Amino acid sequence: MARYVDANCKLCRREKQKLFLKGTKCYTDKCPMEKRAYAPGQHGQSRRSRISEYGVQLREKQKVRRIYGIMETQFRNYFERATKETGRTGDALVKLLERRIDNVVYRLGLAPSRKSARQLVLHRHFTVNSKPVDVPSFLLKPGDVVQVREKSRKLNLIHESMKRVKDTSMLPWLTLDKATMTGTFLNVPERAEIPLNANEQLIVELYSK
Ligand code: SF4
Repeated sequence: MARYVDANCKLCRREKQKLFLKGTKCYTDKCPMEKRAYAPGQHGQSRRSRISEYGVQLREKQKVRRIYGIMETQFRNYFERATKETGRTGDALVKLLERRIDNVVYRLGLAPSRKSARQLVLHRHFTVNSKPVDVPSFLLKPGDVVQVREKSRKLNLIHESMKRVKDTSMLPWLTLDKATMTGTFLNVPERAEIPLNANEQLIVELYSK
């Protein structure tokens, strides 16, 4: 499947917001957004007076898609699935994205970014309920247990990533046992609990045209 080959930081600059795509670098002053918080390219700093309603909706969709590292077709499929869920479609969309195993591995602190988490999952470094899973889009259900495989427990990338996890920073729908490198997806979070700076209603409006 096609993936982004563009520099991750350019995506942040395009969206004029930190999307936290590069792990530890994002939390340091090496982050380009600290000095160049404008779109890349020759006209990046030029001020456009008006952005259309469609443009606003499109940017919001692109931003969320980039945060979760999902290509357009798959993102659209999540939206179609969300329309069939009960409750607000925007909420359902974000909840579906949060259930992806690559996202949960990142949220647990077992990878420094969603991109790294995706690579680790693809290389079969995790099990779900004791069975190896190598599909980053695998959706977790309440009670599912995600564990680093025995053969992968010495991976430096995972250890370095876990160092930044403080017990108090764990999200309420997740638990992590650092000693056994085991995380539990306790429940599907409510939208208000999910730390995502986005207005998903704009995405619903965009796709509903
Ligand atoms: Fe975005 Fe991280 Fe690059 Fe900063 S360092 S621009 S937050 S990807």
